Amino acid sequence: VTVLGLESSCDDSAAAIVRRHGDGSVDILADAVIGQNSEHAPFGGVVPEIAARAHAERMDTLAAGVLAEAGLTLADMDAIAATSGPGLIGGVMAALMTAKGLALGADKPLIAVNHLEGHALSARLTHTVEFPYLLLLVSGGHTQLVRVDGVGEMTRMGSTIDDAAGEAFDKTAKVMGLGFPGGPAVEALARTSTDPQRFALPRMLSRDRGCDFSFAGLKTAAKRAFDSLETPTQADKADLAAGVQREIARHLAERAGRAMDIFADSAGENAKGLTLVVAGGVAANGAVRDALELMAGSKGFTLIAPPLKYCTDNAAMIALAGAERFVLGRIDGLDAPARARWPLDETSAAANPASG
Ligand code: ATP
Ligand code: FE
Repeated sequence: VTVLGLESSCDDSAAAIVRRHGDGSVDILADAVIGQNSEHAPFGGVVPEIAARAHAERMDTLAAGVLAEAGLTLADMDAIAATSGPGLIGGVMAALMTAKGLALGADKPLIAVNHLEGHALSARLTHTVEFPYLLLLVSGGHTQLVRVDGVGEMTRMGSTIDDAAGEAFDKTAKVMGLGFPGGPAVEALARTSTDPQRFALPRMLSRDRGCDFSFAGLKTAAKRAFDSLETPTQADKADLAAGVQREIARHLAERAGRAMDIFADSAGENAKGLTLVVAGGVAANGAVRDALELMAGSKGFTLIAPPLKYCTDNAAMIALAGAERFVLGRIDGLDAPARARWPLDETSAAANPASG
């Protein structure tokens, strides 16, 4: 099946065309992303009104562009998929409304995709990953461990009780004046540190035996450490960036380790192979990947991480989620609502939109 996917839930406008074969293999026929970092950078974070306007201006052109790139027309599509939440509502509407228009005009089914399900399935764009697997989703807005039993069959095992991991990177970067988005800047600076152990920073939830995450204490400690430096040099900043990155990576790996124990127990002897999939923008971070690789290895899990361009927001993952849903007959009506909130363990787009 061939699906056009559209994405506009945060600050990337994206369109892609994905063809999924019967054996589960996937061809990405076209894939385009237009970021908005330069629009939002002066404000140090995503401004919803600016994002919504930029998405609305770009969606049509992006959709036409990927069709042209793939040498296909709407008539060749089996379905049109769009992120319908969660996200900034004005932004979500841009892709969803465009998809509805195209679906109506071309008489094709609409698939309303949960953005988080897109991230959850993104590894299947490039790797053979069988259900069930354990997912660590680490992005700018979400940090959670999820058991993925199938399309639309996801159970949260733990989530952050305060900030997301990406936010912890972004806020630390802001404190140090590194600009937005912070993750890549923190990683680049940390690489130049000559003393990554210099700053002792708190271990989050060190007495908690569950799978939840917390990053607020680390953010505060990093700010305090930065403020205590009289005139911070580049070397000071590098050491602090390395410290923050070290603790974020350690915390993510430690919590994932707990979830791997639980997952392995429940999978029992039927486990065909234990897999930890990591997704979301923070999965681009080398230190995070290394820590997860080490922890997964020690638990007998294989770590699968999508290529960097499919870790961050993209439309190929939305098109793939659409294709997987289409194959299962899970199509949506043209009245599918845009949802600001939509937890991953709620499967239907229409389920309880008011309280989602
Ligand atoms: P969500 O998907 O939850 O709505 P989002 O769209 O902001 O959030 P992504 O595009 O998946 O999330 O990821 C963006 C986040 O990833 C930002 O917080 C950014 O700082 C972080 N990030 C990107 N690259 C890196 C990196 N190399 N190291 C650390 N963090 C990174
Ligand atoms: Fe995302």
